[in-house]
Amino acid sequence: MKENQRSDGTRTSSNRSVVRREVTPSNAGRPVVAPLSPSVVYQYDNVDQLQSMYNGEIDGFGYARDGHPNAASLAEKISWLEKAPFGLMTASGMSAIASVFLSCLEKGDKIAASSQLYGRSLNLTQQELPRMGFETAFFDASDSSTFDQVIGPDTKIILAEVVSNPMLRITDFEKLAEKAREVGALLLIDNTFTTPNGFNPLEHGADLVMHSVTKMLSGHSDLNLGYIGGKDETLMARLAETISIFGLNSSPYNCWMAERGLHTFDLRYRQAQQNASQLARFLKEQPNVLKVIYPDLGDHPDREMAEKYLKNGFGSMVSFVLAGERDQANAFISAAKNIPYCPTLGDVSTMVIIPSVSSHRKLSREERLALGIEDNLVRISVGIEDFDLIRNDFSVAIKAAE
Ligand code: PLP
Repeated sequence: MKENQRSDGTRTSSNRSVVRREVTPSNAGRPVVAPLSPSVVYQYDNVDQLQSMYNGEIDGFGYARDGHPNAASLAEKISWLEKAPFGLMTASGMSAIASVFLSCLEKGDKIAASSQLYGRSLNLTQQELPRMGFETAFFDASDSSTFDQVIGPDTKIILAEVVSNPMLRITDFEKLAEKAREVGALLLIDNTFTTPNGFNPLEHGADLVMHSVTKMLSGHSDLNLGYIGGKDETLMARLAETISIFGLNSSPYNCWMAERGLHTFDLRYRQAQQNASQLARFLKEQPNVLKVIYPDLGDHPDREMAEKYLKNGFGSMVSFVLAGERDQANAFISAAKNIPYCPTLGDVSTMVIIPSVSSHRKLSREERLALGIEDNLVRISVGIEDFDLIRNDFSVAIKAAE
């Protein structure tokens, strides 16, 4: 056994050697798993070397709020999936969206947003940005005739999702990208629901794509993270600066965990999508299910656009309207013992929420109904379990709600 002594003669148990940083001896064998790098700061051998790093002449990191190895590694992998030349990690999906507004808006600028955004994105555009003096107007992303009414030469940023939450409406993407180009607005697409396996917005005219990596890309509901990808190097450098200045940066641990999840993303996506398609068809046969929403069902209002844009299948989200009122909803949720009732999506496990009392609870009932969000609309994030288990759980829960 080797003696626990350092080369300077101090014993490792002394205060001095505990406080001084030790560099782990490098071995011939290299780790298979990417190391977790929790260091907030990075040291350099001399003044010139640090200066060279800041000048971009040598690669390296300085302070973790500006960037760190785990963020760089994860961003590179997601950028590869999104076909994005540049990518950045942020603390959450919401901070990814916020960083774009904080970076690009200037006094008096206007924003155009889809009326069917994720609830918190609606809060951001309806409540927070107007509070700061930025006017926001809303369009129906699946009806291009509404674009002209709302998007004009003074629109600075357009925000939309490819597949909307929870009604699974499809954005008329080509027309929206064309309109953005025509007026010179920046098109920011939230691709969380659709995932890079479903659609790559940058290849179809978007300027920026973002993800809540919290969801399917990481896949295990154990971290919050966001990603932004783009094509314009200057814009991405500006975003990186904003992320650091406003402290919207990601944590190394979350990036490290997310990279572990990302390894199985493709497998999980395929299994979840297959289950979703089967579940949608099963739900259609249930007598106390009033309506089923899934993009490839014959009665989906945007089926043609879904076929045009979603070349890899129709995703892992299904929504349905349960007959009855709150009592039936409670009976359904209580009987669905293996299906967590919780406000997230993209987990390995199938999960449900009722948007009227969760993601969209801040909207008035009239506003919700205008979007098609009925009181007993149930949104399902379909997981990767054997389909027989999922069918059985839904069968029991739906019967309990009769
Ligand atoms: N975008 C969509 C479509 C979402 O569903 C969510 C969260 O549910 C977000 C953005 C926000 O992501 P996060 O919770 O990581 O901030």
